[in-house]
This record gives sequence, structure tokens and C-alpha cells, in this order.
Amino acid sequence: MRVIVIGGGVIGTTTAYYLHADGHEVVLVDREQQLATEASFANGGMLHASHTEPWNTPAAIGQLLRWIGREKSPLLLRPSQIPNLIGWGLGFFRYGMPKHHHRNTRVNARLAVYSIECMRQLRAETGIAYDERASGILKIFHDSDEWVAGRTASERVRDLGVRYQMLDTDDVMAIEPTLDAVRDQIVGGIYYPDDEIGDPCLFTRRLGDILAGEGAELRLGESVTAINSHNGSVTGVTTDQGTIEADKVVLAAGSEAVALARPLGVRLPIRPVKGYSATVDVSDCDSVPTTPIIDAGRKVVITALGQRLRVAGTAEFAGLNRTVNENRVRIVLDQALANFPRLASQIDYNAVEPWACLRPMTMDGPAILGETPVDGLYLNAGSGHLGWTFAAGAGRAVADRVAGRSPAVDIEGLKYSRFTR
Ligand SMILES: Cc1cc2nc3c(=O)[nH]c(=O)nc-3n(C[C@H](O)[C@H](O)[C@H](O)COP(=O)(O)OP(=O)(O)OC[C@H]3O[C@@H](n4cnc5c(N)ncnc54)[C@H](O)[C@@H]3O)c2cc1C
Repeated sequence: MRVIVIGGGVIGTTTAYYLHADGHEVVLVDREQQLATEASFANGGMLHASHTEPWNTPAAIGQLLRWIGREKSPLLLRPSQIPNLIGWGLGFFRYGMPKHHHRNTRVNARLAVYSIECMRQLRAETGIAYDERASGILKIFHDSDEWVAGRTASERVRDLGVRYQMLDTDDVMAIEPTLDAVRDQIVGGIYYPDDEIGDPCLFTRRLGDILAGEGAELRLGESVTAINSHNGSVTGVTTDQGTIEADKVVLAAGSEAVALARPLGVRLPIRPVKGYSATVDVSDCDSVPTTPIIDAGRKVVITALGQRLRVAGTAEFAGLNRTVNENRVRIVLDQALANFPRLASQIDYNAVEPWACLRPMTMDGPAILGETPVDGLYLNAGSGHLGWTFAAGAGRAVADRVAGRSPAVDIEGLKYSRFTR
């Protein structure tokens, strides 16, 4: 069977890997000259089953509304975007209600746990290296109420296989001694031993090389302009360079999936949520944290990837605008380095690589995987803040659906049909 995958980010490329492993003739199309040029280029690097709560918590929604238009806030809603967000935003509020939020956290956690297992298997099968480390992830808290809330959230997903250890301040220092300078500001932490980190861009490009080496067709620098169908069944795609025919198409185009699906009557409740990262070589610094850290209150992540330090965070509703705003990069960097004053004094700020991109976020939180009402058109879209975490599990589950198999993970709560009932 010939299968086209639209989008060579981490999600599309991993899906292509599993489709190829199933023996299909795979065509992976991306508009950029290289894979992983958009959201999968320089994200936080974390594969975190520990961090699967959808972002529409009542606290976050309150902060978002309080901080509308405030350039320095970690959550920023630009007033010009409010008209584009009305329908999606109402859903975002509604699915923030505890019963929905708790269920969707579990849907995400189940897929995340499965995905980390799949990633370990994929690593063993391919020998792929991507500055990965199975080091676990440490969440730190500056506020006791947030620490308690973090424990409650972790308890909700423990039975799904998300292991965690509650830590007092001394325990946090034992795991990550470079935090010692701010010891008096940290009330506690939670350590998740099964989480991992790695560079999603290295991973995606190396996986692309493996696929190309094994005969999959990578069509880079080619933009899909339409998904073609006849009598309700998909027939292929039209690109800026011609037509490609196929038996099935998987749409994995990140935030652009919405516009490609709409002419076929598939309305995806996905909106772009912009985030920023900063990456800097720290090979000359002597106080680099070795444990990946999520600073829960400041909403930033801090990850050492090989000789580089990556910090990432902020959520900005700015439409499809991918412009890198240096001020917001600096906010993320300063928030992260507030925990590491010695490192902050050692970094060469001129060498910092700034980056911004769009998380494709569904209104309820979980991704959208599998069939659509158009026969032969499948989705692997809307992974939001969890696309790197989900890549292997979601890719495998979608390949299973294309082959007509039941995925090994329960995908109830992840299907498109949840929005059409
Ligand atoms: C600041 C930040 C930090 C993050 N940190 C983490 C983290 O620590 N852990 C985690 O799990 N997730 C994280 N994420 C989320 C994660 O990066 C995304 O969920 C993930 O990269 C989405 O992958 P994707 O393949 O769906 O999208 P993308 O990587 O955007 O890929 C979509 C691809 O589709 C292509 N495309 C689009 N339109 C067309 C077209 N018409 N024709 C052809 N090709 C097209 C694009 O060129 C692109 O390559 C973070 C995101 C951000 C922004």
C-alpha cells in the first residue's frame, strides 16, 4: 500500500518509520528543505509522562485572562487573536472543568507512558542516538500549594505507570546540587524516574536518514496545497510541484493541519500556541545542572543536551506568527537561570540561539489520532506541549490504524470522533 505522510516534524517522521516497518511504500512530504524545521526543531527536549495535564486548568485560565496583552507574562493572549479563538476558547474553558480535565490528563498520561516504552524499543531497533538520557526529570516548587497540587496530579496517574518520588528540599539538593544557591526558595520537588530527554531535531533528522537509506521516499521542499479525494475516499495530494497518488494519507502537519483538513469537511479544533527556547553551549561552564528540571511556578524547563543547555517555556496566543521576539526569549532564559545564579554569570549571552515555534494545541488537551470521516485519511495531529513525548507511541498507534490493527494502547479519548458526537 502507498501511504503519504504530510509533515516531517517528529510526529510525521516517526509515523513514517512505523508505516515503513509495516512494509508500506511511504512518501514523506515536507515543505521545508530539512526535516524538523518547525515545532520539532528546538523544543524543551523532555519526554515527560509526568507533565501531561492539559493546559486549561482553572488557575492557568485565570492567569491568561489577567495577563491579556502583558508582554512579560509567561502566558500571553494577544488581544488581536481573541476573535480567532472564540469557538476554540469556549471549548478550552469547558474542557477545563475538573471531570474533563482529569479524564484528559489520564488519556495523555496513558499515551505518554506507552510512547516512552515505544521510544526505548525504537532506539534498540535502530541504534539511533540523539543526545538522549534516561535520567528521569525533577520538578521543583517554590510554593507549597503548587507542590501539593503537583502531588495530587501525580497521584491521579500513578496507576497508569507514572512513578514518582516526593522530595523535601534536602532531597532536591541531593539530586541536583547546582540548585544549592537557591535552596531557601525551594519548598520541595517531585522526581519522575522514568522520564527521558533528548534532542528532537537530531532524532527526527537521523530517523529520516534511516528511512531514506531503507528506500522510503522523502520529498523535502515540497508544499502540499490540497488533499485529494474522490467519492469520499482519499486519492493522494496536490503539491506545489504536482500530484502524488496514494492509497492512504496521514496528516501530521502540526499547526497547518487545520487548513489542509478543512476543505474535506474535517474541522480540527487545533490552535497554535507559541513557545520560545534558548540554547547555549555550556562546555566552559562549571555549574551546569545534570538533571532535567521543570520549574513548575515559573513555567520553564531546563535541559542539558550534550554540551548544550536548552531552556524553554511561555505560551503565547499569536496566531500562526512564528517570529522570534528576543524579549520573550530573554524572559524564558532569565526565569530559568534565576535558579542557577552561578551559571547565569558564566554564560555567553551573545552565543545564545533563540527560537520560537507553535505547539499545535487541541481545545480539550489530547492529540487527535487515527481515522477521519474521509476514507483513507488519518490524523496524527494536535500534540500540543507533548509532541516529542508522544512521537513514538502516537506514530505507532496511527500506523496500527492504517493497517487496520488495534493499537496496543487504548486510544479512546484520542479519536477525531470525540468532536463529532
Ligand atoms: C517552546 C516549546 C517547547 C516544547 N517542549 C516540549 C517538550 O519538552 N516535550 C514535548 O513532548 N513537547 C514539547 N513541545 C511540543 C513539541 O515540540 C510539538 O508538539 C511537536 O514538535 C509537534 O510536532 P509535529 O511533527 O506535530 O509538528 P512540526 O514539528 O511543526 O511538524 C509539522 C511539519 O509539517 C510541515 N508542513 C506544514 N504544512 C505543510 C504543507 N502544506 N506541506 C508540507 N509540509 C507541511 C512543516 O514544515 C513541519 O515540518 C514544545 C514546543 C515548544 C514550542
